Amino acid sequence: MTNNNIYFVANWKMYGNLTSLNALNKVINISRSKFFKKAKFIYCPPFTLLDQFLKKTINTKIEVGAQDCHFVNGSGPYTGMISANQIKKLGTKYIILGHSEKRSDGDTNQIINKKILISIKEKLKVILCVGETLKDKKNKKEINVLKTQLNSCLKNLKQKKNIIIAYEPVWSIGTGRVPTNADIYKNVKFIKNFIKKKFKNKNIVVLYGGSVNQKNIGILKKINNIDGFLIGGASQNYDKFIDIVKKTII
Ligand code: PEP
Repeated sequence: MTNNNIYFVANWKMYGNLTSLNALNKVINISRSKFFKKAKFIYCPPFTLLDQFLKKTINTKIEVGAQDCHFVNGSGPYTGMISANQIKKLGTKYIILGHSEKRSDGDTNQIINKKILISIKEKLKVILCVGETLKDKKNKKEINVLKTQLNSCLKNLKQKKNIIIAYEPVWSIGTGRVPTNADIYKNVKFIKNFIKKKFKNKNIVVLYGGSVNQKNIGILKKINNIDGFLIGGASQNYDKFIDIVKKTII
């Protein structure tokens, strides 16, 4: 880990209901402990729970994010969609964009770029997910893929303020398979250098995401250029999530 704040982003995907909110108190409690001063907690529940999460986390250290938005902002005839403006108006601070599960639903780098520009205009903090598929990895194309994704997704963005990058190899998400620390280090280093060159600013937060759990966290936390984790499956269980936080920090 770097010496900066340590991010723990919980991506609940299409899981959770009102009862899942009750146990959030456990995380609120540990977030208040002096041992976890450096930890930043960001919960990204489904849209249906955003409002309840926001209410429950008022005056706590827990921040709230959405998992996506439409590529058109404001309001309009887009059945089933939610805009960045609507998300922001609720009081939400963060938004995950470019997640591989959205990419496989049809989100191209160009669409993600539109969503990013809109979200930044709305003053949401964007967590942009990038990462290679298994085929890319086998063909040793990781860096090429990351370069294309970063170039296209961040096109026309003037500054990197409010952008967090999550390095998430597609083949690692939800599979239990995790890259070696050396591979994560190498790809995160590339991302940090890329952003440094593009925006002339070296302070970029880069997270690792992909099958982070209580068993592998002890190894993953040794990677000294990452600023935290984006956690899917294991974040839906508060005890597992808290265990990951404790094992990272203490
Ligand atoms: C994710 O949803 O971004 C993710 C990393 O999921 P998991 O931790 O389940 O692999």
